[in-house]
Formats: sequence, C-alpha cells, structure tokens
Amino acid sequence: MAIHAGNTPDPLTGAVVPPIHQVSTYKQDGVGGLRGGYEYSRSGNPTRAALEENLAALEGGRRGLAFASGLAAEDCLLRTLLSPGDHVVIPADAYGGTFRLFAKVVTRWGVTWSVADSSDPAAVRAAITPRTKVVWVETPSNPLLGITDIAAVAAVAHSAGARLVVDNTFASPYLQQPLSLGADAVVHSTTKYMGGHSDVVGGSLVVDDDALGDELAFHQNAMGAIAGPFDSWLVLRGIKTLAVRMDRHCENAGRIAEMLGRHARVTRVLYPGLATHPGHETAAKQMKAFGGMVSFQVEGGEQAAVEVCNRAQVFTLGESLGGVESLIEHPGRMTHASAAGSALEVPADLVRLSVGIESADDLIADLKQALG
Ligand SMILES: *Cc1c(COP(=O)(O)O)cnc(C)c1O
Repeated sequence: MAIHAGNTPDPLTGAVVPPIHQVSTYKQDGVGGLRGGYEYSRSGNPTRAALEENLAALEGGRRGLAFASGLAAEDCLLRTLLSPGDHVVIPADAYGGTFRLFAKVVTRWGVTWSVADSSDPAAVRAAITPRTKVVWVETPSNPLLGITDIAAVAAVAHSAGARLVVDNTFASPYLQQPLSLGADAVVHSTTKYMGGHSDVVGGSLVVDDDALGDELAFHQNAMGAIAGPFDSWLVLRGIKTLAVRMDRHCENAGRIAEMLGRHARVTRVLYPGLATHPGHETAAKQMKAFGGMVSFQVEGGEQAAVEVCNRAQVFTLGESLGGVESLIEHPGRMTHASAAGSALEVPADLVRLSVGIESADDLIADLKQALG
C-alpha cells in the first residue's frame, strides 16, 4: 500500500513515479472547463493529491490532507474543530511545539485546556468538562515514550461527546493505525518517519468521516498552509520505504534499549519495548512493534546528560527525528525548552535518541564511548 496507493503511473507518459507538478495554475478549456478538477494549486495539485491519497490509505481513512508542516496540520485541525469557549484535554507529555500551540496561540482565541496523564483513562475522564470538544493524545509520546490506550481513551472521549485526536508521528501507520482503534483524526509530522530522510518539513491529517474531511479541506484551502508540490513528492518518495525503514529502526532501538538498561551510568531507560515499561502491554496490543525512539536518564544530572549528547559522534546532535541517520538531543534544552516551568517540563537528566538505520553495532559502540 505504501508503494502503490496514490502512485498511479502518469496517464500522459506512463512515468511510474508521479511527476512533480510544480505549477500554480491550470489552463481551463473555456471558463470553468477544468481538466481533472484542478484550477489553482492552493486548492489542489496532482502531486499533493497523490500524497493525500496515499496517506489516507495508510491510515485506513477516507480523507488525507497534506500541509506545510505538522504544526500547520494541527492548527488547521484545531481551527476546524474548535470555537471560542470550547475546552481541550491535552496530554502531560507531548511535542513541545504542540504544547506551545495550545499555551500561546489557541488560548488567545478563547479556547481553554487542561493537562491530563493520558496513559490513565480515568485521569482523562476527570479532566473532561461539559465544554470539552477535543481530547488530544500522542502515543508513544515525545520525549518520555508514554503509552496511551487509544481504544480506552476513545471510549472516554466519545462518551462525553468529544473527539479523539491522535498524533501518530512516533509510531507511523506501519506500526499503529489510530482510526481503527476509535480515533476521529490522526495527525502526523511527515517531517519525521514518513519523509524519513531529514530533507523535508511537512504535516498531514487523516480522518474517516466525509463531512469532517470536507470541513478540513475547506479550512486547508481557506487558510492556505498546504504542502508544496516538491515537498509532497519527497514525502511520497520517503513513504515507499516506510516498512523496511521502520523494521530496522525498531530492531536497532530494541538492541540499544537493552544495552542502556545494563549500563552502569544509565539510571532509567524509557522504551515501550522493555517489559519493565509501564505501557508495555498496551503498546504490544496496539502496535506492531515498539518504534525507533529511545529516551534515557543519566547518572550525574543535567550536565552529565548534556555531555553525553556532546560526545556522541555517529549519533548527530540535533533536533527532529525519524530520519535514516541517528540523532541525539537534550530535550530540556532543545526540543522541549518551550515546556519549561509547565506541567509538561521534562527531566533535566534526560537524553532522547532517534535511532536510525545504521549498523546497530556502530550505534552501540558510539553510545558506550559517549557515556564514558
Ligand atoms: C515534529 C513533531 C510535530 C510538529 O511537526 P513539524 O513538522 O515540525 O511542524 C508534531 N508532533 C510530533 C510528535 C512531532 O515530533
């Protein structure tokens, strides 16, 4: 499906890869005579349409939409679902930019939010108010790798008349399909595993409800933060190898988590594949495997964690994740600096790894030397 959905050979030439339709407008055959429905590339573009069809197929939804970034997708979804006076339940652990969108942007429009530990459905239920329209979860979460039982939280949200949104960026649809577990909308930063090569910034939404899909498409066009043709093509190209990349990411991450678990300087390893992880059983139930992200805490506090990041050589010190090359970072000072002082603040001695597809032996040797 990753290779074929949306990737119909070009009807004009037979090119097996969809062309990059780098174009803003389309010749009309007489006023209103659109060829294939295209009139202007903000409203629709064939390369983006190919990606959107592919995204919908992978998540098992009826409608996929591609955006300029993950945050643009989130913004479009929130402004479609919410009005002033509405309330959102957000998770206690989430991508820093998602938290910033709620804390610094959405609140200015009269939307309120509360934080709940989404790994506990009862805590989500307790945070819901009569004004709650959306329950937002990320699983596995960023950067603490917490696991939310999607089906259980969907039931809680629906019993209160709210919609469940799942940010599926860490898992990718190869490992987990939230719509099939009851979610109403799936968000991706396609910048990460979907693109997979650290060469594009993009985002997506997938829903299984035609009416909601139409409303989202209206807002996508009305607000305009679309994925451009070349960016769409890069994501579509990346997705073709999603399955083989994810298999390798998961295998390497499992080996690294095991090594870290035995290392004297590591005080705690956060990886849902470990039997000791509190969300292990839920993850095993709803995911095909446990993903490529591993976080760990280091003996010696913040300075020691920063030094591990600085000493790594095969792991590149940098933000982002999901690419073929391994990355290491210090969430407290980097990706999650915007959550400092909030309920979403992360431990100072935390190191986050995006485990790539290099040789696991090379990655393990590098971490051992970085830990000293
Ligand atoms: C990166 C990321 C986002 C934001 O996506 P951008 O493409 O950077 O705008 C959202 N959620 C998660 C889990 C992410 O890792």
